[in-house]
Amino acid sequence: MSTRTWNFCAGPCTLPAIVLERMQTQLLDYQSSGMSLIEMSHRSASYEAVHQAAIDGLRRTLSIPDNFQILLLQGGAMAQFSMLPMNLLAADEAAAWIRSGQWGNKAQVEASAVCRADIAWDGKASDYLTMPTTADLDVTDDARFLHLTSNETISGMRVVDWPDVEIPLVIDASSDILTRALPWDRIGVVYAGAQKNLGTAGLGVVIVRDDLLEARRALPSYLQYAAHAKANSLLNTPPIFQVWMLSEMMRWVEECGGLAHFETEAAQKSGDLYSVIDGSDGFFTNPIPVALRSMTNIVFRLPSDELQASFLKAAEAANLTNLKGHRSVGGCRASLYNGMAPQGAAALADFMQDFARRAG
Ligand SMILES: *Cc1c(COP(=O)(O)O)cnc(C)c1O
Repeated sequence: MSTRTWNFCAGPCTLPAIVLERMQTQLLDYQSSGMSLIEMSHRSASYEAVHQAAIDGLRRTLSIPDNFQILLLQGGAMAQFSMLPMNLLAADEAAAWIRSGQWGNKAQVEASAVCRADIAWDGKASDYLTMPTTADLDVTDDARFLHLTSNETISGMRVVDWPDVEIPLVIDASSDILTRALPWDRIGVVYAGAQKNLGTAGLGVVIVRDDLLEARRALPSYLQYAAHAKANSLLNTPPIFQVWMLSEMMRWVEECGGLAHFETEAAQKSGDLYSVIDGSDGFFTNPIPVALRSMTNIVFRLPSDELQASFLKAAEAANLTNLKGHRSVGGCRASLYNGMAPQGAAALADFMQDFARRAG
């Protein structure tokens, strides 16, 4: 087998080799059917079993209560920025958004094309380097839900205390789903693009509480949550490859020990990097308050652009790839989604420590 690098890409993400290998062995001839799964009818028994396994695996792993429907939709997370308010709000109704960074902000801007998208809090004054407490929120009286981003993928910061408000929470969990438990008793909808913790791009998972399913305005059927729920996400041809990947990911996640395993592992992997950063005497810096640091996207800077360039180059040569920060913020970023093995995070931590010692 070719040598795979430790790939710290923020999305699409690295995937477990065993998941890719299992799909590879079945790719040409799925379970002796004489054809690939991606060549088969989506109404076939073979595909339906995979489709249901993906949904059931999500329900078990995330302990999703029975009064929530799990939808598998195309368009990734971004499609939900507008599809979601179109379903949950009549044209003259409003909701509130937390603007906590680039993703939270984008969600609010996109929503404002289809509804009154009020701003419950905006982190601009802190350069988007902190999260609000419930007391900081200014939720308008007629807001029907509160939207938040559980992990800001670009700045490397996460929500730790879920807001305690009267209205349902709507959570974009794209970059930390399956790394921690979710507060179902406060949730109306959770959604995530699949290409970070769930598999490959081209699929969005949308988990909707039953009483919010029915659209509050007239919508074409593809945009209606209720239509997808009624068809068990087989309203039209689903993205078969992506759903297959999701089902194999969920199988692997459960084999590894489920949510509890990955919650522990996320703390351990991110802890490896943060302790090198904090122990580097200021050689590496991270701007996020310690309590709010992301466990999936670890950002850091070096003392100069020159050192950063040589760090990235040397890392690449050591098989540690895709560590460059988002183009809008610069710096470095190591994304440690569930597909990144603890050995990968440990290898990066060792490399960083060694680099700082040699350069410092
Ligand atoms: C990556 C990401 C998105 C965008 O996901 P797409 O599937 O590419 O639309 C949205 N929100 C968050 C928090 C993300 O990390």
